[in-house]
Amino acid sequence: MGMRHGVVLGGGLAGMLTASVLARHLDAVTVIERDRLPAGPLDRAGSPQGRHTHAFAGGGVAALDRLLPGMVDELVKAGARRIRNPEDVLILTTAGWLPRYQDMESFLSASRRVIDWSIRERVLADVRISVRQATDVTGLAGDAGRVTGVRLRSRETRATDELAADLVVDATGRGSHAPRWLREIGVPEVREELVDPGIVYVTKVFRALPGTEDDFPAIMIADDPRSERPGRGALLLPVEDGQWMLTLSGRRGVTPPSDDEGFHAFARELPHPILSKIIEMAEPVSRMFRYDLTSNRRRRYDRLRPAPEGFVAIGDAHCSFNPVYGHGMTVSVFGALALHETLGRQGLQPSTARLAQKAVARATDPVWAMARSQDVRFRGTTGTRMTMLDRVQEAYGRRLQRAAIGSRDIVAAQLSVFELAGPPTQLLAPKIIRQAMRRPRATGPTEPPLTERERAALRIG
Ligand SMILES: Cc1cc2nc3c(=O)[nH]c(=O)nc-3n(C[C@H](O)[C@H](O)[C@H](O)COP(=O)(O)OP(=O)(O)OC[C@H]3O[C@@H](n4cnc5c(N)ncnc54)[C@H](O)[C@@H]3O)c2cc1C
Repeated sequence: MGMRHGVVLGGGLAGMLTASVLARHLDAVTVIERDRLPAGPLDRAGSPQGRHTHAFAGGGVAALDRLLPGMVDELVKAGARRIRNPEDVLILTTAGWLPRYQDMESFLSASRRVIDWSIRERVLADVRISVRQATDVTGLAGDAGRVTGVRLRSRETRATDELAADLVVDATGRGSHAPRWLREIGVPEVREELVDPGIVYVTKVFRALPGTEDDFPAIMIADDPRSERPGRGALLLPVEDGQWMLTLSGRRGVTPPSDDEGFHAFARELPHPILSKIIEMAEPVSRMFRYDLTSNRRRRYDRLRPAPEGFVAIGDAHCSFNPVYGHGMTVSVFGALALHETLGRQGLQPSTARLAQKAVARATDPVWAMARSQDVRFRGTTGTRMTMLDRVQEAYGRRLQRAAIGSRDIVAAQLSVFELAGPPTQLLAPKIIRQAMRRPRATGPTEPPLTERERAALRIG
Protein backbone atom coordinates (compact mmCIF):
# COMPACT_ATOMS: atom_id res chain seq x y z
CA MET A 1 0.00 0.00 0.00
CA GLY A 2 1.27 3.52 -0.86
CA MET A 3 1.36 6.55 1.35
CA ARG A 4 -2.06 7.15 2.89
CA HIS A 5 -3.00 10.81 2.98
CA GLY A 6 -5.78 12.37 5.07
CA VAL A 7 -7.10 15.84 4.33
CA VAL A 8 -8.95 17.83 6.99
CA LEU A 9 -11.07 20.75 5.82
CA GLY A 10 -10.97 23.55 8.43
CA GLY A 11 -8.41 24.21 11.14
CA GLY A 12 -10.78 25.01 14.02
CA LEU A 13 -11.25 22.85 17.10
CA ALA A 14 -12.82 19.86 15.33
CA GLY A 15 -10.26 20.14 12.51
CA MET A 16 -7.30 20.03 14.90
CA LEU A 17 -8.71 17.10 16.89
CA THR A 18 -9.39 15.24 13.64
CA ALA A 19 -5.87 15.94 12.35
CA SER A 20 -4.42 14.42 15.51
CA VAL A 21 -6.61 11.34 15.06
CA LEU A 22 -5.76 10.88 11.36
CA ALA A 23 -2.04 11.28 12.08
CA ARG A 24 -2.22 8.16 14.26
CA HIS A 25 -3.79 6.02 11.55
CA LEU A 26 -2.52 7.42 8.21
CA ASP A 27 0.94 8.46 6.96
CA ALA A 28 0.40 12.16 6.37
CA VAL A 29 -2.29 14.72 7.11
CA THR A 30 -2.96 18.10 5.52
CA VAL A 31 -5.26 20.64 7.16
CA ILE A 32 -6.77 23.27 4.85
CA GLU A 33 -7.67 26.54 6.58
CA ARG A 34 -8.95 29.76 5.05
CA ASP A 35 -7.42 31.97 7.78
CA ARG A 36 -3.78 32.62 8.54
CA LEU A 37 -3.56 30.95 11.94
CA PRO A 38 -2.20 33.34 14.58
CA ALA A 39 1.01 32.38 16.43
CA GLY A 40 -0.61 32.99 19.80
CA PRO A 41 -3.96 33.15 21.59
CA LEU A 42 -5.61 35.68 19.27
CA ASP A 43 -9.09 36.06 17.75
CA ARG A 44 -9.44 35.36 14.05
CA ALA A 45 -11.99 36.07 11.35
CA GLY A 46 -12.84 32.42 10.59
CA SER A 47 -13.96 31.81 14.16
CA PRO A 48 -16.36 34.68 14.95
CA GLN A 49 -18.09 32.72 17.74
CA GLY A 50 -14.75 32.85 19.55
CA ARG A 51 -15.62 36.28 20.95
CA HIS A 52 -18.43 34.77 23.04
CA THR A 53 -18.55 32.84 26.32
CA HIS A 54 -17.50 29.21 25.91
CA ALA A 55 -17.88 26.71 28.73
CA PHE A 56 -16.14 23.40 27.99
CA ALA A 57 -18.50 20.82 29.52
CA GLY A 58 -17.05 18.35 32.04
CA GLY A 59 -17.79 15.31 29.86
CA GLY A 60 -16.00 16.94 26.95
CA VAL A 61 -13.02 17.88 29.09
CA ALA A 62 -12.66 14.25 30.25
CA ALA A 63 -12.97 13.03 26.65
CA LEU A 64 -10.37 15.61 25.51
CA ASP A 65 -7.90 14.19 28.03
CA ARG A 66 -8.51 10.70 26.66
CA LEU A 67 -7.86 11.92 23.11
CA LEU A 68 -4.87 14.14 23.97
CA PRO A 69 -3.54 13.01 27.38
CA GLY A 70 -2.38 15.91 29.54
CA MET A 71 -4.19 18.50 27.37
CA VAL A 72 -6.46 19.67 30.17
CA ASP A 73 -3.49 20.50 32.43
CA GLU A 74 -1.94 22.39 29.50
CA LEU A 75 -5.15 24.38 29.10
CA VAL A 76 -5.16 25.21 32.80
CA LYS A 77 -1.51 26.26 32.56
CA ALA A 78 -2.50 28.55 29.67
CA GLY A 79 -5.09 30.23 31.90
CA ALA A 80 -8.27 28.15 31.63
CA ARG A 81 -10.22 28.01 34.89
CA ARG A 82 -11.58 24.80 36.38
CA ILE A 83 -15.05 25.72 37.58
CA ARG A 84 -16.65 23.31 40.04
CA ASN A 85 -20.33 23.02 39.30
CA PRO A 86 -22.33 24.10 41.28
CA GLU A 87 -19.80 24.98 44.01
CA ASP A 88 -18.34 27.78 41.89
CA VAL A 89 -21.52 28.67 39.99
CA LEU A 90 -24.52 30.76 40.98
CA ILE A 91 -27.40 29.19 39.08
CA LEU A 92 -30.79 30.83 38.92
CA THR A 93 -33.24 28.19 37.72
CA THR A 94 -36.92 28.68 37.05
CA ALA A 95 -37.52 27.52 40.66
CA GLY A 96 -34.98 29.76 42.42
CA TRP A 97 -31.22 29.84 43.16
CA LEU A 98 -29.56 26.42 43.49
CA PRO A 99 -27.49 25.68 46.59
CA ARG A 100 -23.72 25.48 45.94
CA TYR A 101 -23.32 21.76 46.67
CA GLN A 102 -19.74 20.45 46.80
CA ASP A 103 -18.07 17.57 44.92
CA MET A 104 -20.27 17.28 41.87
CA GLU A 105 -19.20 18.21 38.34
CA SER A 106 -16.82 20.72 36.81
CA PHE A 107 -16.20 22.45 33.51
CA LEU A 108 -13.42 24.53 31.97
CA SER A 109 -13.81 28.22 31.38
CA ALA A 110 -11.50 30.13 29.04
CA SER A 111 -11.71 32.29 25.96
CA ARG A 112 -11.77 30.38 22.68
CA ARG A 113 -8.48 32.11 21.84
CA VAL A 114 -6.79 30.16 24.63
CA ILE A 115 -8.62 26.87 24.01
CA ASP A 116 -7.99 26.84 20.26
CA TRP A 117 -4.40 28.04 20.43
CA SER A 118 -3.37 25.55 23.14
CA ILE A 119 -4.90 22.62 21.28
CA ARG A 120 -3.45 23.80 17.96
CA GLU A 121 0.06 24.10 19.44
CA ARG A 122 -0.16 20.58 20.80
CA VAL A 123 -1.58 19.01 17.64
CA LEU A 124 0.67 20.79 15.14
CA ALA A 125 3.80 19.69 17.01
CA ASP A 126 3.23 16.38 15.16
CA VAL A 127 5.45 16.48 12.07
CA ARG A 128 3.05 14.28 10.10
CA ILE A 129 0.55 17.15 10.07
CA SER A 130 0.92 20.18 7.82
CA VAL A 131 -1.41 23.14 7.34
CA ARG A 132 -2.21 25.01 4.15
CA GLN A 133 -3.28 28.38 5.47
CA ALA A 134 -5.06 31.22 3.70
CA THR A 135 -6.60 28.59 1.44
CA ASP A 136 -10.30 28.11 0.68
CA VAL A 137 -11.76 24.70 0.02
CA THR A 138 -13.96 25.24 -3.03
CA GLY A 139 -15.15 21.71 -3.78
CA LEU A 140 -14.50 18.00 -3.73
CA ALA A 141 -12.96 15.70 -6.34
CA GLY A 142 -14.31 12.25 -7.15
CA ASP A 143 -17.73 10.90 -7.98
CA ALA A 144 -20.87 9.61 -6.27
CA GLY A 145 -19.06 6.44 -5.24
CA ARG A 146 -15.91 7.92 -3.78
CA VAL A 147 -14.43 11.25 -2.73
CA THR A 148 -10.82 11.29 -3.93
CA GLY A 149 -9.62 14.75 -2.99
CA VAL A 150 -10.40 18.44 -2.61
CA ARG A 151 -10.33 21.54 -4.77
CA LEU A 152 -8.56 24.55 -3.33
CA ARG A 153 -7.96 28.23 -4.00
CA SER A 154 -5.31 30.38 -2.38
CA ARG A 155 -6.73 33.52 -0.75
CA GLU A 156 -3.50 35.36 -1.48
CA THR A 157 -2.58 34.40 -5.08
CA ARG A 158 -6.05 33.18 -6.20
CA ALA A 159 -4.24 30.11 -7.68
CA THR A 160 -6.38 26.99 -7.78
CA ASP A 161 -5.22 23.48 -7.06
CA GLU A 162 -6.44 19.96 -6.41
CA LEU A 163 -5.17 17.76 -3.59
CA ALA A 164 -5.62 13.98 -3.63
CA ALA A 165 -6.73 12.25 -0.44
CA ASP A 166 -7.50 8.75 0.81
CA LEU A 167 -9.84 10.24 3.41
CA VAL A 168 -11.40 13.73 3.50
CA VAL A 169 -12.91 14.99 6.76
CA ASP A 170 -15.05 18.11 6.64
CA ALA A 171 -14.58 20.28 9.74
CA THR A 172 -15.40 23.65 8.16
CA GLY A 173 -17.95 24.43 10.86
CA ARG A 174 -21.56 25.55 10.89
CA GLY A 175 -21.31 27.26 7.48
CA SER A 176 -19.94 24.15 5.71
CA HIS A 177 -20.70 23.91 1.99
CA ALA A 178 -20.14 20.15 1.87
CA PRO A 179 -23.77 19.33 0.92
CA ARG A 180 -23.29 21.42 -2.25
CA TRP A 181 -19.77 20.07 -2.88
CA LEU A 182 -21.10 16.51 -2.67
CA ARG A 183 -24.03 17.34 -4.97
CA GLU A 184 -21.56 18.71 -7.53
CA ILE A 185 -19.86 15.30 -7.80
CA GLY A 186 -23.16 13.41 -8.06
CA VAL A 187 -23.89 12.43 -4.44
CA PRO A 188 -27.61 12.64 -3.52
CA GLU A 189 -28.99 15.52 -1.44
CA VAL A 190 -27.97 15.40 2.23
CA ARG A 191 -31.07 15.72 4.42
CA GLU A 192 -30.86 18.45 7.01
CA GLU A 193 -32.73 18.98 10.29
CA LEU A 194 -33.04 22.52 11.57
CA VAL A 195 -34.50 23.48 14.94
CA ASP A 196 -34.21 27.22 15.38
CA PRO A 197 -35.12 28.99 18.62
CA GLY A 198 -33.80 32.28 17.18
CA ILE A 199 -31.18 32.88 19.88
CA VAL A 200 -29.11 36.07 19.77
CA TYR A 201 -25.93 36.44 21.85
CA VAL A 202 -24.40 39.75 22.84
CA THR A 203 -21.11 39.51 24.74
CA LYS A 204 -18.86 42.02 26.44
CA VAL A 205 -15.68 41.47 28.46
CA PHE A 206 -15.05 43.13 31.84
CA ARG A 207 -12.13 43.30 34.24
CA ALA A 208 -12.90 41.22 37.35
CA LEU A 209 -13.77 43.34 40.37
CA PRO A 210 -10.71 44.08 42.54
CA GLY A 211 -9.84 41.12 44.78
CA THR A 212 -11.90 38.59 42.76
CA GLU A 213 -9.43 38.01 39.91
CA ASP A 214 -8.70 34.39 40.90
CA ASP A 215 -11.85 33.50 42.71
CA PHE A 216 -15.36 34.49 41.77
CA PRO A 217 -18.25 32.24 40.78
CA ALA A 218 -19.70 31.93 37.30
CA ILE A 219 -23.29 33.16 37.10
CA MET A 220 -25.94 31.43 35.03
CA ILE A 221 -29.48 32.76 34.64
CA ALA A 222 -31.75 30.33 32.82
CA ASP A 223 -34.54 31.38 30.54
CA ASP A 224 -38.02 30.19 31.55
CA PRO A 225 -40.41 29.18 28.77
CA ARG A 226 -43.36 29.55 31.16
CA SER A 227 -42.56 33.01 32.45
CA GLU A 228 -44.71 35.89 31.26
CA ARG A 229 -41.69 37.32 29.48
CA PRO A 230 -39.60 34.39 28.23
CA GLY A 231 -36.56 35.03 26.13
CA ARG A 232 -33.90 36.31 28.48
CA GLY A 233 -30.86 34.41 29.74
CA ALA A 234 -27.34 35.30 30.83
CA LEU A 235 -23.96 33.75 31.54
CA LEU A 236 -20.99 35.32 33.26
CA LEU A 237 -17.78 33.30 33.04
CA PRO A 238 -14.53 34.14 34.79
CA VAL A 239 -11.77 33.45 32.23
CA GLU A 240 -7.98 33.86 32.01
CA ASP A 241 -6.15 37.12 32.81
CA GLY A 242 -8.59 38.19 35.52
CA GLN A 243 -11.39 38.88 33.07
CA TRP A 244 -15.10 38.16 33.08
CA MET A 245 -16.98 37.44 29.87
CA LEU A 246 -20.65 38.33 30.09
CA THR A 247 -23.16 37.10 27.52
CA LEU A 248 -26.76 38.22 27.48
CA SER A 249 -28.96 36.08 25.27
CA GLY A 250 -32.45 36.52 23.95
CA ARG A 251 -34.89 34.50 21.92
CA ARG A 252 -36.79 35.58 18.83
CA GLY A 253 -38.31 39.01 19.41
CA VAL A 254 -36.46 39.63 22.71
CA THR A 255 -32.92 40.26 21.54
CA PRO A 256 -30.29 42.03 23.64
CA PRO A 257 -29.21 45.34 22.08
CA SER A 258 -25.54 45.83 21.20
CA ASP A 259 -25.16 49.35 22.59
CA ASP A 260 -24.11 50.03 26.20
CA GLU A 261 -27.37 51.60 27.25
CA GLY A 262 -29.52 48.84 25.75
CA PHE A 263 -27.24 46.05 27.02
CA HIS A 264 -27.56 47.34 30.58
CA ALA A 265 -31.32 47.86 30.24
CA PHE A 266 -31.67 44.22 29.05
CA ALA A 267 -29.67 43.03 32.08
CA ARG A 268 -31.97 45.01 34.37
CA GLU A 269 -34.90 43.01 32.99
CA LEU A 270 -33.35 39.67 34.00
CA PRO A 271 -35.16 37.96 36.89
CA HIS A 272 -32.40 39.06 39.32
CA PRO A 273 -30.35 42.32 39.36
CA ILE A 274 -26.93 40.76 40.16
CA LEU A 275 -25.62 41.09 36.60
CA SER A 276 -26.95 44.60 36.24
CA LYS A 277 -24.99 45.47 39.40
CA ILE A 278 -21.86 43.90 37.94
CA ILE A 279 -22.25 45.91 34.73
CA GLU A 280 -22.45 49.07 36.86
CA MET A 281 -19.36 48.21 38.90
CA ALA A 282 -16.95 46.40 36.57
CA GLU A 283 -14.66 48.08 34.06
CA PRO A 284 -15.39 47.05 30.46
CA VAL A 285 -12.36 45.92 28.45
CA SER A 286 -13.97 45.11 25.11
CA ARG A 287 -16.60 46.40 22.81
CA MET A 288 -19.86 44.52 22.36
CA PHE A 289 -20.03 41.47 20.07
CA ARG A 290 -23.27 40.11 18.59
CA TYR A 291 -23.93 36.65 17.10
CA ASP A 292 -27.10 35.19 15.70
CA LEU A 293 -26.21 32.04 13.69
CA THR A 294 -27.31 29.82 16.51
CA SER A 295 -29.81 27.23 15.27
CA ASN A 296 -29.56 23.52 16.03
CA ARG A 297 -28.63 22.06 12.66
CA ARG A 298 -27.88 18.44 11.88
CA ARG A 299 -26.85 17.13 8.48
CA ARG A 300 -27.74 13.48 8.03
CA TYR A 301 -24.59 12.24 6.23
CA ASP A 302 -25.11 9.05 8.22
CA ARG A 303 -28.31 8.42 6.24
CA LEU A 304 -26.86 8.92 2.74
CA ARG A 305 -27.67 5.98 0.47
CA PRO A 306 -25.31 5.15 -1.07
CA ALA A 307 -22.73 6.98 1.05
CA PRO A 308 -19.58 7.96 -0.86
CA GLU A 309 -16.37 6.33 0.33
CA GLY A 310 -13.64 8.57 1.64
CA PHE A 311 -15.74 11.36 3.19
CA VAL A 312 -16.74 12.11 6.79
CA ALA A 313 -18.18 15.27 8.38
CA ILE A 314 -17.45 16.17 11.98
CA GLY A 315 -17.90 18.98 14.54
CA ASP A 316 -20.25 21.82 13.64
CA ALA A 317 -20.04 20.86 9.95
CA HIS A 318 -21.96 17.72 10.94
CA CYS A 319 -24.10 19.09 13.76
CA SER A 320 -24.22 22.48 15.43
CA PHE A 321 -26.22 23.48 18.51
CA ASN A 322 -28.00 26.33 20.17
CA PRO A 323 -24.98 27.71 22.09
CA VAL A 324 -26.97 28.23 25.29
CA TYR A 325 -26.42 24.55 26.12
CA GLY A 326 -22.62 24.82 25.74
CA HIS A 327 -22.27 21.42 24.07
CA GLY A 328 -20.71 22.08 20.65
CA MET A 329 -17.04 21.69 21.60
CA THR A 330 -17.78 18.52 23.54
CA VAL A 331 -19.56 16.99 20.57
CA SER A 332 -16.48 17.79 18.44
CA VAL A 333 -14.36 15.79 20.91
CA PHE A 334 -16.88 12.93 21.01
CA GLY A 335 -16.87 12.87 17.19
CA ALA A 336 -13.07 12.79 17.00
CA LEU A 337 -12.99 9.92 19.50
CA ALA A 338 -15.60 8.03 17.45
CA LEU A 339 -13.46 8.48 14.32
CA HIS A 340 -10.38 7.32 16.24
CA GLU A 341 -12.15 4.19 17.46
CA THR A 342 -13.45 3.30 13.99
CA LEU A 343 -10.02 3.76 12.39
CA GLY A 344 -8.46 1.80 15.27
CA ARG A 345 -10.86 -1.09 14.74
CA GLN A 346 -10.60 -1.48 11.00
CA GLY A 347 -8.00 0.90 9.55
CA LEU A 348 -8.77 2.58 6.25
CA GLN A 349 -11.06 0.35 4.19
CA PRO A 350 -13.84 1.12 1.71
CA SER A 351 -16.44 0.97 4.51
CA THR A 352 -14.46 3.05 7.03
CA ALA A 353 -15.90 6.47 6.21
CA ARG A 354 -19.51 5.19 6.30
CA LEU A 355 -19.00 3.44 9.63
CA ALA A 356 -17.11 6.39 11.10
CA GLN A 357 -19.93 8.74 10.06
CA LYS A 358 -22.45 6.49 11.78
CA ALA A 359 -20.29 6.41 14.92
CA VAL A 360 -20.02 10.23 14.87
CA ALA A 361 -23.80 10.46 14.52
CA ARG A 362 -24.35 8.01 17.41
CA ALA A 363 -22.08 10.10 19.64
CA THR A 364 -24.12 13.19 18.71
CA ASP A 365 -27.67 11.79 18.95
CA PRO A 366 -28.34 12.14 22.70
CA VAL A 367 -26.99 15.71 22.71
CA TRP A 368 -29.18 16.62 19.75
CA ALA A 369 -32.22 15.06 21.42
CA MET A 370 -31.57 17.10 24.56
CA ALA A 371 -31.23 20.41 22.69
CA ARG A 372 -34.37 19.75 20.63
CA SER A 373 -36.45 18.80 23.65
CA GLN A 374 -35.39 21.96 25.48
CA ASP A 375 -35.89 24.35 22.56
CA VAL A 376 -39.27 22.96 21.52
CA ARG A 377 -40.70 24.34 24.79
CA PHE A 378 -40.20 27.93 23.66
CA ARG A 379 -42.78 29.79 21.64
CA GLY A 380 -41.27 30.87 18.33
CA THR A 381 -38.93 27.89 17.88
CA THR A 382 -39.19 26.76 14.26
CA GLY A 383 -38.51 23.38 12.63
CA THR A 384 -40.08 21.09 15.23
CA ARG A 385 -43.34 20.53 17.10
CA MET A 386 -44.26 19.57 20.64
CA THR A 387 -45.08 15.85 20.79
CA MET A 388 -46.89 14.04 23.60
CA LEU A 389 -43.50 12.77 24.81
CA ASP A 390 -42.20 16.37 24.88
CA ARG A 391 -45.14 17.39 27.08
CA VAL A 392 -44.50 14.53 29.50
CA GLN A 393 -40.77 15.39 29.56
CA GLU A 394 -41.51 19.05 30.13
CA ALA A 395 -43.85 18.32 33.04
CA TYR A 396 -41.30 15.96 34.60
CA GLY A 397 -38.52 18.51 33.99
CA ARG A 398 -40.52 21.16 35.88
CA ARG A 399 -41.04 18.81 38.83
CA LEU A 400 -37.32 18.00 38.82
CA GLN A 401 -36.45 21.68 38.76
CA ARG A 402 -38.65 22.48 41.76
CA ALA A 403 -37.49 19.44 43.72
CA ALA A 404 -33.83 20.18 42.86
CA ILE A 405 -33.79 23.17 45.21
CA GLY A 406 -33.98 20.76 48.16
CA SER A 407 -32.35 17.64 46.72
CA ARG A 408 -28.63 17.08 46.32
CA ASP A 409 -29.31 13.86 44.38
CA ILE A 410 -31.40 15.60 41.76
CA VAL A 411 -28.89 18.43 41.28
CA ALA A 412 -26.07 15.87 40.93
CA ALA A 413 -27.99 13.92 38.28
CA GLN A 414 -29.07 17.06 36.40
CA LEU A 415 -25.54 18.46 36.32
CA SER A 416 -24.05 15.16 35.23
CA VAL A 417 -26.45 15.14 32.27
CA PHE A 418 -25.90 18.84 31.54
CA GLU A 419 -22.11 18.43 31.63
CA LEU A 420 -22.46 15.43 29.24
CA ALA A 421 -20.65 13.35 31.85
CA GLY A 422 -23.40 10.75 32.27
CA PRO A 423 -26.44 9.48 30.36
CA PRO A 424 -29.84 11.26 30.47
CA THR A 425 -31.38 8.02 31.77
CA GLN A 426 -30.00 8.78 35.26
CA LEU A 427 -32.83 11.30 35.58
CA LEU A 428 -35.18 8.30 35.53
CA ALA A 429 -33.46 6.36 38.34
CA PRO A 430 -36.06 5.26 40.96
CA LYS A 431 -34.41 7.44 43.65
CA ILE A 432 -34.65 10.52 41.42
CA ILE A 433 -38.26 9.84 40.37
CA ARG A 434 -39.24 9.37 44.04
CA GLN A 435 -37.68 12.67 45.05
CA ALA A 436 -39.17 14.50 42.07
CA MET A 437 -42.65 13.27 42.95
CA ARG A 438 -42.47 14.40 46.59
CA ARG A 439 -44.32 17.59 47.42
CA PRO A 440 -41.71 20.21 46.60
CA ARG A 441 -41.02 23.38 48.57
CA ALA A 442 -43.22 26.22 47.39
CA THR A 443 -40.29 28.29 46.07
CA GLY A 444 -36.51 28.29 46.25
CA PRO A 445 -34.28 31.09 47.58
CA THR A 446 -34.80 34.40 45.82
CA GLU A 447 -31.26 35.64 46.59
CA PRO A 448 -28.04 34.03 45.30
CA PRO A 449 -25.98 32.03 47.83
CA LEU A 450 -22.99 34.40 47.93
CA THR A 451 -20.11 34.01 50.38
CA GLU A 452 -19.13 36.89 52.66
CA ARG A 453 -16.15 37.70 50.40
CA GLU A 454 -18.33 37.76 47.30
CA ARG A 455 -20.88 39.98 49.03
CA ALA A 456 -18.09 42.35 50.02
CA ALA A 457 -16.75 42.47 46.45
CA LEU A 458 -20.24 43.33 45.20
CA ARG A 459 -20.71 45.79 48.08
CA ILE A 460 -23.83 44.02 49.26
CA GLY A 461 -24.45 44.78 52.93
C1 LIG B 1 -22.11 32.22 20.20
C2 LIG B 1 -21.64 30.81 20.43
C3 LIG B 1 -21.33 30.37 21.71
C4 LIG B 1 -20.94 29.05 21.91
N1 LIG B 1 -20.70 28.60 23.19
C5 LIG B 1 -20.30 27.33 23.38
C6 LIG B 1 -20.02 26.84 24.68
O1 LIG B 1 -20.21 27.53 25.69
N2 LIG B 1 -19.56 25.56 24.81
C7 LIG B 1 -19.39 24.75 23.72
O2 LIG B 1 -18.97 23.59 23.89
N3 LIG B 1 -19.66 25.18 22.47
C8 LIG B 1 -20.11 26.43 22.28
N4 LIG B 1 -20.37 26.86 21.01
C9 LIG B 1 -20.15 25.94 19.89
C10 LIG B 1 -18.69 25.93 19.44
O3 LIG B 1 -18.29 27.24 19.13
C11 LIG B 1 -18.57 25.02 18.21
O4 LIG B 1 -19.21 23.81 18.46
C12 LIG B 1 -17.12 24.75 17.83
O5 LIG B 1 -16.44 25.93 17.52
C13 LIG B 1 -17.09 23.80 16.63
O6 LIG B 1 -15.80 23.70 16.14
P1 LIG B 1 -15.56 23.37 14.60
O7 LIG B 1 -14.11 23.18 14.47
O8 LIG B 1 -16.50 22.31 14.16
O9 LIG B 1 -16.01 24.68 13.82
P2 LIG B 1 -15.31 26.11 13.80
O10 LIG B 1 -14.73 26.42 15.12
O11 LIG B 1 -16.33 27.04 13.24
O12 LIG B 1 -14.11 25.94 12.77
C14 LIG B 1 -14.31 25.85 11.38
C15 LIG B 1 -13.00 26.22 10.69
O13 LIG B 1 -13.12 25.98 9.30
C16 LIG B 1 -12.58 27.09 8.58
N5 LIG B 1 -13.28 27.12 7.28
C17 LIG B 1 -14.61 27.34 7.06
N6 LIG B 1 -14.89 27.25 5.75
C18 LIG B 1 -13.73 26.98 5.11
C19 LIG B 1 -13.38 26.77 3.75
N7 LIG B 1 -14.28 26.80 2.76
N8 LIG B 1 -12.08 26.53 3.47
C20 LIG B 1 -11.14 26.47 4.45
N9 LIG B 1 -11.42 26.66 5.75
C21 LIG B 1 -12.69 26.90 6.08
C22 LIG B 1 -12.86 28.29 9.48
O14 LIG B 1 -12.00 29.36 9.21
C23 LIG B 1 -12.62 27.68 10.86
O15 LIG B 1 -11.28 27.77 11.23
C24 LIG B 1 -20.82 28.16 20.80
C25 LIG B 1 -21.13 28.61 19.52
C26 LIG B 1 -21.56 29.91 19.33
C27 LIG B 1 -21.94 30.34 17.95
